[in-house]
Amino acid sequence: MNAELEARAASARERMGELADAGVEAVACGFVDPAGIVRTKCIPLRRLVEATRSGIGLSTVFALALSNDEFTSAPGYVEGPSGDLRLVPDPGGIVPVEPMPGWAWAPVDQFTQEGERWAGCPRSFLRRVVDDLAARGLTVRAAFEFEFSFGRDMPDGSVEPAHRGPGYSDIALVQHHDLALDLIRAFEREGLEVQQFHPEYTDGQFEVSIAPRDPIAMADTVLVLKQTVRAVGRKYGWRASFSPRTFGPVGNGMHLHLSLWRDGLNEFSGGDGPAGLRREGEAFIAGLHRDLPAVVAVTCPNTLSYSRLQPHHWSGAMLCWGQENREAALRFIQGMAGTRSQSANIEVKPIDGTSNPYLAMGAVLAAGAAGVADGLELPDPTTEDPSSLPEEERTHRGIRQLPSSLAEAVEELAASSTLRAAMGDLLFETFLATRRADEAQYAGMEEEELTRQFRWRY
Ligand code: GLU
Ligand code: MG
Repeated sequence: MNAELEARAASARERMGELADAGVEAVACGFVDPAGIVRTKCIPLRRLVEATRSGIGLSTVFALALSNDEFTSAPGYVEGPSGDLRLVPDPGGIVPVEPMPGWAWAPVDQFTQEGERWAGCPRSFLRRVVDDLAARGLTVRAAFEFEFSFGRDMPDGSVEPAHRGPGYSDIALVQHHDLALDLIRAFEREGLEVQQFHPEYTDGQFEVSIAPRDPIAMADTVLVLKQTVRAVGRKYGWRASFSPRTFGPVGNGMHLHLSLWRDGLNEFSGGDGPAGLRREGEAFIAGLHRDLPAVVAVTCPNTLSYSRLQPHHWSGAMLCWGQENREAALRFIQGMAGTRSQSANIEVKPIDGTSNPYLAMGAVLAAGAAGVADGLELPDPTTEDPSSLPEEERTHRGIRQLPSSLAEAVEELAASSTLRAAMGDLLFETFLATRRADEAQYAGMEEEELTRQFRWRY
């Protein structure tokens, strides 16, 4: 057995007692397919050590899963019913899920039967990107903001949102104060460190932001957070949705905040570049800016993603960057005077809850890393509402709308040498095949029907 799996088995043995004391009886091993659906295989706690040694079987076709549970094929890469992977839990990331007594969630990596990391494993892709940055002396702190909706199906076939606003209001909070407190309590006990929570703008919508952590731990956290929201909502008779459009005209985003560090210094603060950026901080954001149209196919991978990703929805539909510009795809946040060296960060807005968090984080960081490698510089920042500028001026300043459909995004991805190189051929080609197939399934479907299709699948 290789040293990595040996270390996992040792770490699993160490955690067994503590998990049993916390009342854990079963472990749900969670992985995410290319369509962004969280899938799981469960084991009794007793099997944990064994699972880290020999893994849990999974067909390779899950790398080809579509958002409707069908599978496509990627000839020459993954096709047909043959082939097995081993899901290997990462014991360090196991978290007991507060509102699911007796259950814990474990992140997993996908290994081959020979004990090697599989080339199509999303979490291993993210690890490679993080390791590449580390080899350059750079580390990243990452945090998602989660928007989600609660609602329920009515006997007459209609759907009822959990609140009807007003947005951000005390009315919506008081209506759900018990549920909101249950959520905050659960996140805190799970170690998620809530930064803030609020009823969001549109019907049924809420938001929670949690504290930054390393990118892999942050991607793992997405799974824990989603299950927690679903399980708490269920106690109150509400179904949770992280779909990009659920109720009303504004969507659910999953904005990603990043800061880049070298030798304990935040590369986004204290420099001579625009907005106080240091050289590598600027190059990282410039790399993101360069490759964002392709990255969007990974961060907004569903047909319905593009109903959210529209100008004037604060969803980041316009390719530009600006300080505190909420219509810019890349919103630079300097933070309060006195705390900037810690808090300055870039918010990447075109991301939603249908994305695989490992692929989304990996694609974003790979684009930033390529910017650093190429020593890129940023264009001038945008302070105005970018989509209200005359077209000529937008063209002159290099401001454009990001892809407005999955079909467009997929073509940008297909042409991206940055993402192909970072993902490797197998992951890149299988992912691309699923996005093309998903696009073909839903092309031409009306927004209302798409919303209905995906409301309870994310
Ligand atoms: N709901 C918006 C989105 O789809 C974000 C609103 C906000 O800035 O919090 O991204
Ligand atoms: Mg929000």
